[in-house]
Amino acid sequence: MQPYIESIGKTYGVFPAWVLMFLLVFMRYAVMASIFYGIFYVLFRQHFFPFKIQQKYPKSAEIVRELGYSLLTAAIFASMAFGVYALRKMGMGRLYFDISERGWVYYIFSLAFIIVLHDAYFYWIHRLMHHPRLFKHLHKVHHLSHNPTPYTAFAFHPLEAVVEFGIIPIIALFMPIHVSALLIFTIWSIFFNVMGHTGFEFAPKGATRHPFWKWISTPTHHNMHHQQGNYNFSLYFNWWDRWMGTNNPRYDEVFDDVKKRALMQKASAMLLMLIGFSGGIMAQNSNRDAFIDQQIEAIQKGDYQPPETRAAQIDTWMKNDLQLRDDQINPIHDINLRYALRTEHDIAKADISMWSKYLKIKDIQDEKDVELKRILDKTQFKKYAAFRDDVLWKAVRKLIF
Ligand SMILES: [Zn+2]
Ligand SMILES: [Zn+2]
Repeated sequence: MQPYIESIGKTYGVFPAWVLMFLLVFMRYAVMASIFYGIFYVLFRQHFFPFKIQQKYPKSAEIVRELGYSLLTAAIFASMAFGVYALRKMGMGRLYFDISERGWVYYIFSLAFIIVLHDAYFYWIHRLMHHPRLFKHLHKVHHLSHNPTPYTAFAFHPLEAVVEFGIIPIIALFMPIHVSALLIFTIWSIFFNVMGHTGFEFAPKGATRHPFWKWISTPTHHNMHHQQGNYNFSLYFNWWDRWMGTNNPRYDEVFDDVKKRALMQKASAMLLMLIGFSGGIMAQNSNRDAFIDQQIEAIQKGDYQPPETRAAQIDTWMKNDLQLRDDQINPIHDINLRYALRTEHDIAKADISMWSKYLKIKDIQDEKDVELKRILDKTQFKKYAAFRDDVLWKAVRKLIF
């Protein structure tokens, strides 16, 4: 990449070369953030909602603001990269291009060193930027996002962008670092940054108490910082906050809640869906919310309809709405009755935990889908699945708000 930018610089001048560098930096951010955004906010929005740390989505105007500041940040970072390169041209700086010059051991050490050093630098500079005198001039822009998205990763005031990453060109002046190690560092940094702002928790259950995971910053950790700025200053690792006692005292509790809530919501929604499925799919869209309210109440009281009634309701709905052919009616009735009885026995009346019920419901539903797929044609099955997902999604929302 470097020789390419250099040749553009020689042919067209410094400015076009800078523009190219800017585009590269911005695209790296935009692609990384858009992958996370695409998966969690667009493609699988409904599926991942129960796992969202804050149970609401920010307005699109917020994302537009974040993108605007990110353009400025990309310009600053491009200028820094350009500066490092220009200094090297003038014989300053310790950037090197041939790995054999110092070997692989040094290569790995230098990469690890720059990550650990940047983490320490970020912690202290971040704490400093929260000082009331500095906050409004430097860091306030980043904290305009109370419910961060992947695009928040680069949403800084330009001065903050200089302060946060300014140490990297300085390191490159004094410490020999291979150009690709520097590139890996920037990719690591943006990946962590985007993940930490995504708004979803990826760390395993119990991570904040685990001997290894507790030293890694989680998305919940940084999300809490955006909600309450006087704790949780860490970037990649959680050791500085732990050593200095600046972890939010509610960190463990909130983290556990996020993990537990996602499971419980999914469990209750699945339960609701299966037990109350027949009425849910038959109710017209406008009545569906009211129906789901009734079902939640009924399930809480353990007051279910008899399986034969539910099976008959699903039969009627499928016959009319999916326009079953005559030869489909009997096999479909057989499936509906069998699964209604099984749900009653294994789930509704079973004395097991919600979580075990959820696991069972999922198995039963998957098996039922396989059987239905054999009888229904493609269009019918698609329609059936769409209704089922609609009931599930509405139920999840009801249980949350
Ligand atoms: Zn942030
Ligand atoms: Zn902050």
